[in-house]
Amino acid sequence: MRKIDIIESLKSYMEFEKESGVREYFFNMAPASQASCPRTNAQTLEELKKEVDSCKSCDLSRTRTNVVFGSGNPKAKLMFIGEAPGRDEDIQGLPFVGRAGQLLTKIIEAMGLKRQDVYIANILKCRPPNNRAPLPTEILACADNVKRQVEMKNPKVICTLGKFASQTLLKTETPITALRGTFQLYDGIKVMPTFHPAYLLRNPQDKRLVWEDMKKIKKEL
Ligand code: SF4
Repeated sequence: MRKIDIIESLKSYMEFEKESGVREYFFNMAPASQASCPRTNAQTLEELKKEVDSCKSCDLSRTRTNVVFGSGNPKAKLMFIGEAPGRDEDIQGLPFVGRAGQLLTKIIEAMGLKRQDVYIANILKCRPPNNRAPLPTEILACADNVKRQVEMKNPKVICTLGKFASQTLLKTETPITALRGTFQLYDGIKVMPTFHPAYLLRNPQDKRLVWEDMKKIKKEL
């Protein structure tokens, strides 16, 4: 992540906190290695889910209603990875169930699949307040969870939805507009970055670009 993105992310967080009445900040200066979730002995998605359900490694644990671990077929060849839960997801404890999720369901069905045929998760497992952008510290604390989900699932193809998921998984600062449409590699697994369904709700003219990306995934599967 670029320094300018970190500054912008912190700025929007502080603006949100200011609106909520917060006037002072206390920064945890612990080294980054202490800020991330400790690796545990979980061997299966079920075991990992149990651990993540009680995770308090970042401040989002204080404002979440539910942890949104992920859902779908654990043996699916195709895994979608988004950014973070929103309001509906936080309430239901399931990923992509709001308006953007309904659009993702339509995209999956247009590929000739059902939601039960794929696996869906987010980089962050808890909702950022007011749906603000994830903070770098939160990504640092949570990113290992999705990496372990990928290790345990070992999908044939991953589709990252939007800038945050794509840049975090692929460890790149390349904009999503340049990343999308071309397969990348993560740990030997093909990754197709594409636009987030929430972006498509605001920019429906770009649905055809996402459909081009989905056709490439279908071919690969
Ligand atoms: S967002 Fe991730 S690291 Fe933070 S509390 Fe939730 S599960 Fe833990």
